[in-house]
Amino acid sequence: MKGSIRLFKIFDISINIHVTFLLLLLIFLSGGLKWLFLIVAIFCFVTLHELCHSLVAKHYGINVREITLLPIGGIASMTKIPDRPSQEFFISIAGPLFNILVVLTLFYPLRYVLGPDVLFHPLSTKSWPLTIAYIYWINLILAAFNLIPAFPMDGGRVLRALLAVKIGYQKATKIAVNFGHIFALLFAYLGITRFNLMLIAVAIFIYMAASGEELQADIKETLKKFRVRDILSRDFYTLRSDSTLAKVLETIFHSHQEDFPIVDDGKLVGFITRQDIITNIHQFGMEKNVRDIMRRDFPKVKDLDPLVHVQNLMQENDIRAIPVVRGDEVMGIITIEDIGRIYAMISQRT
Ligand SMILES: [Zn+2]
Repeated sequence: MKGSIRLFKIFDISINIHVTFLLLLLIFLSGGLKWLFLIVAIFCFVTLHELCHSLVAKHYGINVREITLLPIGGIASMTKIPDRPSQEFFISIAGPLFNILVVLTLFYPLRYVLGPDVLFHPLSTKSWPLTIAYIYWINLILAAFNLIPAFPMDGGRVLRALLAVKIGYQKATKIAVNFGHIFALLFAYLGITRFNLMLIAVAIFIYMAASGEELQADIKETLKKFRVRDILSRDFYTLRSDSTLAKVLETIFHSHQEDFPIVDDGKLVGFITRQDIITNIHQFGMEKNVRDIMRRDFPKVKDLDPLVHVQNLMQENDIRAIPVVRGDEVMGIITIEDIGRIYAMISQRT
C-alpha cells in the first residue's frame, strides 16, 4: 500500500506500517509511557489478528503478500478473493476468534488476581496485573468491533458468507453493504453528538469501504460474464527474440504498447513486460537481446476464458498484461487497463 513502511517479514508476509499509524504514535507519545505501552500492545494484537486471517487464507492456497497496519486496524492484502463462501467464512472468523481466545485466557487469571470487578475499573499501569488488563480490553474491543455484522468489518464478511449459501453472492453482498452503511451512519451520529472527530473519521471510512465492497462484488460478477474475446483488441505488436532493447524501446514509442509477446516463426516463446524492459536497460544497456531477459515461464489465457480468471492470474502473478493464445499462436494481449475500463464502466453506472 502507498505511504507505508515495511517493518519485517514473517511466514513470507511483509508487515508494513502506514505513516498515519506513526502520526498516531507521535500524538500518543506526548501522553507519556502509559500510552506508548497501549499503542505497542494494539500494534501487536492487530498484527496477530491479521496473521490469523492470513494463515487460514494460505491454507486455502490464497497468497498474502503484505499486512498493512492503519490506525483503525490492519489490512491483509490477498492475491485473490476466496471463491467459496466456506473459505471466506473461516478466513474472516479466524481474526476475531484469536482475540476472543486471548480474552478468555486472560479473564480468569485477571479476575483471580485483581478481584471480580477489576475488569470494569478505569485502567491504569500502576501494577503489572493492571497493565495486563489493558491487553484484555484491547482484545475485547478488537473482537467486538470486528464482529459487527457489516462491511468492511470481518463480521460483514462472515455474514455475507453465511447468506451467500442461501441467496447467492451478490444479494448477500448488498445486505452486508447496507448494514455497513447503517453502522456508518450510527457512528457518524455518535461522533457528531459527542463532538468526537475519531468516530466521524471511522464512520466515513466504514461508509466508503462498504461501498467499495459493493463495487468489488459487481465487478467480480461482470468479469465472470465477459470473456477475453469480448474485449480483446486484434491490434497488437509482437517482438522477435533476437530484437535488441533499443528496438523494444522504439516499438514502445510507436505503439504505446508496453508489454510484448515474443514470437519466433509464429510461435510464442516468451513474454516481456514494461518493468522487465526498464530494469534491464538500467542494468545492461540498449544492446542486450530480448532472448536473454524475456520471461519463459508466464501465465497465458485463451480467448474463451472469463475475465475474472484473467484478473485472478494478474493478481497472483503480480503482472499487468497476459498474452492470449490458441495453441502456440498469439491472438493478442490483455492488459490491466483493459480490465480497468470495465471497472470504470461499472462505477459510472452505480
Ligand atoms: Zn480482521
